[in-house]
Amino acid sequence: MLAKAPKGTSDILPSRIDYWYYLENIIKEVLQNYGYQEIRTPAFEYTELFVRGIGATTDIVNKEMFTFQDRKGRSLTLRPEGTAPVVRAYIEHNLKRENPLVKLFYLGSMFRCEKPQAGRYRQFNQFGLEAIGSPLPIIDAEIISASLAIYQKIGLTDLSLMLNSVGCRECRPKYLAVLREYFLDKRDSLCPDCLLRYEKNPLRILDCKKEQCQKIVKKCPSIFDYLCEDCATHFLKLRQYLDTLGIVYQINPLLVRGLDYYTKTAFEIISGELGAQNAVGGGGRYDYLVEELGGNYTPAVGFAAGMERIIETMIKQSIKIPVWEGIKVFVATTDASYFVTALEIVNQIREKGIAAEIDFLGKSLKAQMRLANKLKASYVLILGQEEWQEKKVTIKDMVNSSQEKILITEILAYLQSLFLKKESGKS
Ligand SMILES: [Zn+2]
Ligand SMILES: [Zn+2]
Repeated sequence: MLAKAPKGTSDILPSRIDYWYYLENIIKEVLQNYGYQEIRTPAFEYTELFVRGIGATTDIVNKEMFTFQDRKGRSLTLRPEGTAPVVRAYIEHNLKRENPLVKLFYLGSMFRCEKPQAGRYRQFNQFGLEAIGSPLPIIDAEIISASLAIYQKIGLTDLSLMLNSVGCRECRPKYLAVLREYFLDKRDSLCPDCLLRYEKNPLRILDCKKEQCQKIVKKCPSIFDYLCEDCATHFLKLRQYLDTLGIVYQINPLLVRGLDYYTKTAFEIISGELGAQNAVGGGGRYDYLVEELGGNYTPAVGFAAGMERIIETMIKQSIKIPVWEGIKVFVATTDASYFVTALEIVNQIREKGIAAEIDFLGKSLKAQMRLANKLKASYVLILGQEEWQEKKVTIKDMVNSSQEKILITEILAYLQSLFLKKESGKS
């Protein structure tokens, strides 16, 4: 048990880290390009924030939160998602003072006590973007466009955008009443979860993955017949803006997302690669959340995506990523008595920004050469008795095996000219 990570967690090992660097850099680059600034909130919040923010009827709040008490008996919860904390920070720091439209993004670990299954973890990483302050559909279009731009920059293909409207305070209650009536005589065929949803929020029945429920859902009334004029116009304009941007989408009236706070626009980005669990990100408008969490009425829209799932898709699609170039120079010695000089040399090389390594295990020269080979070092500097007496090192080119002796004082200039030559040779 001691040397085992907790159930549902995983380590990101050095062999995978380049994917994370690549993805994180693209997220920052693209979102800054769209004018979003990063915010970092704590990993835990008061439990009430999520109960109020995400909704007491959601699976997240009912079954999946990591909740604990601090020493004073206050209830805290590891954040299961990023939007409620961002909105909390927006209200707490009165961020709208600087700009009536606040555009933020975040990256970080989220925590949900789910049944571990393929691609789902109890600690997982998400990024998200939020635009708080505008009721206009043009900002919905921007959120969608910025999100897609990230996937595009990563190089992912085979993605599609699903779009829906889930209505507002005006029209949704009417649609919910229609749904209740529709499901009334079909309740016996619904799954136990959906029976509960029938009472609390029948909209959630629409995204039940169970076959028995999907059969019934297929023929249910469409929300588009019940949207109020405001919601219908919002949706129409959003479609116009997406068309203008050349963004292709499919309208899916069954798309409701797992969180209660969405209003009007709801959308998902789907990958054809991932089988049944195929959403690689999703979002929507949440016009009442700021109010729900104690602020003034402030319309907002956002997007979030799990990063593990994106990386999984990148690997499946064999996306080429830049990888760490590794060690360039290895400094080898024939005897521990040269360690002091070797340490000085390796330190100077590193100071010049050239990745260098040295033997820390007192290995033989032969073993050090094998190690240098394994590290794929371009050059090995060898410091032995003969070199020591001449104040020189032997520099060995590991690619063509040529070697020569150079003065220790000239190592840096020599290496720099070698790497400069290589750089220019590449381009
Ligand atoms: Zn409406
Ligand atoms: Zn169901």
